Amino acid sequence: MSLCKRRGFIFQASEIYGGINGFWDYGPLGAQLKKNLRDAWWQDMILNPCWGRKGPDGERVTCVPVETCIIQNPKVWEASGHVGGFNDPMVDDRETKGRYRYDHVMVYVPESGDAGDKPVFAYVGDQPSEAKQKKKAEKTFGAIKSVPLSSLARPWDRVIGPDAEKPGTLTEPRMFNLMFDTIPGAIRDEANKAYLRPETAQGVFVQFKNVVDTTRVRIPFGIGNTGRSFRNEVTPRNFTFRSREFEQAELEFFCHPSESVAWYKFWRDFRMEWWKSLGLAGENLILREHDKDELSHYSQGTSDVEYRFPFTAPGFGELEGIAHRGDYDLTQHQKHSKIKLDYFDTTRGEVLPNGGKKGERYMPHCIEPAAGLDRGALALICEGYTKDESRPSPEFLKLHPRIAPIKAAVFPLVDKDGMPEIAEKLADGLFKRFGHSGFIETDPKQSIGKRYARMDEAGCPYCFTVDGQTKEDQTVTVRDRDTGKQDRMNIDKVEAFMAEKLGG
Ligand code: ATP
Repeated sequence: MSLCKRRGFIFQASEIYGGINGFWDYGPLGAQLKKNLRDAWWQDMILNPCWGRKGPDGERVTCVPVETCIIQNPKVWEASGHVGGFNDPMVDDRETKGRYRYDHVMVYVPESGDAGDKPVFAYVGDQPSEAKQKKKAEKTFGAIKSVPLSSLARPWDRVIGPDAEKPGTLTEPRMFNLMFDTIPGAIRDEANKAYLRPETAQGVFVQFKNVVDTTRVRIPFGIGNTGRSFRNEVTPRNFTFRSREFEQAELEFFCHPSESVAWYKFWRDFRMEWWKSLGLAGENLILREHDKDELSHYSQGTSDVEYRFPFTAPGFGELEGIAHRGDYDLTQHQKHSKIKLDYFDTTRGEVLPNGGKKGERYMPHCIEPAAGLDRGALALICEGYTKDESRPSPEFLKLHPRIAPIKAAVFPLVDKDGMPEIAEKLADGLFKRFGHSGFIETDPKQSIGKRYARMDEAGCPYCFTVDGQTKEDQTVTVRDRDTGKQDRMNIDKVEAFMAEKLGG
């Protein structure tokens, strides 16, 4: 977090006013890093989906984008189930006014399980309450174990809330709607209440018909979009991991029901590979298939791509969910809007005497890879964060060149002897070719070691240095951030070298 602040990746929102819980801003380097992640998603999911790979139907995968509003007709959220059901049951503490997610509250009880008349101590994992309550419980019982609050018989008369002093102050679990509401228009009337979207997906479902009617897309195809979503998370925490305003990148992929499981597996596997391609490889990344009892009633499968964040370790936190949503969403919107949203597929049905097909009408099934760009950016920063006391910058960021906000640095070794002019020319070429994807840093000042150290900390993958030899043989040095190793390279080769490294 301190590196993120110091180098302008992530700042607290409204910091000069003391911040606001659950909201984060991106500084210059963070904004570009996140844009690179969003662009990589857009490139590999919309423009050239799955790197040009064929889908399970043997054809190139087709996807198109949309951009939909944060505020929609509130009926959208009734149809989707968010108004009625986008809830996490919560327990409140009457003494401290604390509010906790019911499924997160645990209690310490004696190892034998029987606390008799004594209090049992509730806590929330990873919060200060955990250690504090553990200490008290051990003092009271000696050997203890931890069980979910939900496993205790109610009322919870003997439970001491995570931050409370007296027992019996926790309320029954209650639903708490996570959607922010607002009132568009001049008349502040509850009847006009609308919501800030809690996910971008519904904007896609409600435009499904318009896209089919106006675009030459045929099933199977996907509609993708990126954008801000809002959830009034009760306990925003772990830096940007759980925020109240965040950005999603979601694809809704529509297919014939009989092919939906094959597409689900295809997307699940591709999404895992995609995160790996950006540098989240190894033991820190897992694909976790949900158990049957974790699935929504309409789903035939859900997997999460999970990353071992420093604050979840040894456990993992969700980066992206890939869900088989069946025909749930389109069916719901058809029911609530009374507009037909089914699809007429001319490639299916009986073969007619003229050799054509009779066609088949059906409600498409949907596979949804739903990624979080803030969690993605955070995972890339955590993965790249490397400590090495032996280097001039003891902390540095091994960011994949495709994601790195600074693509390259061009330095004259000293600010004289014609070196700045050559460096400027080289930088000009790099700006023209790669300036759309990140910064090209030029800095003639300070010792070269200090300049390298600054670049390492910002995650810049390559530094090119013009030195005394450059004038003689037209070579520059290229320094690799991860190894610190330097090679000489012909100045004319620099652009091709960068193009290869940034290829992605
Ligand atoms: P969680 O269980 O962690 O609350 P979720 O399963 O509700 O997440 P989804 O509804 O599947 O999340 O949303 C898709 C993606 O959006 C998540 O994988 C995550 O990357 C991102 N996301 C969801 N909630 C938040 C949040 N509060 N802050 C940042 N990113 C989020």
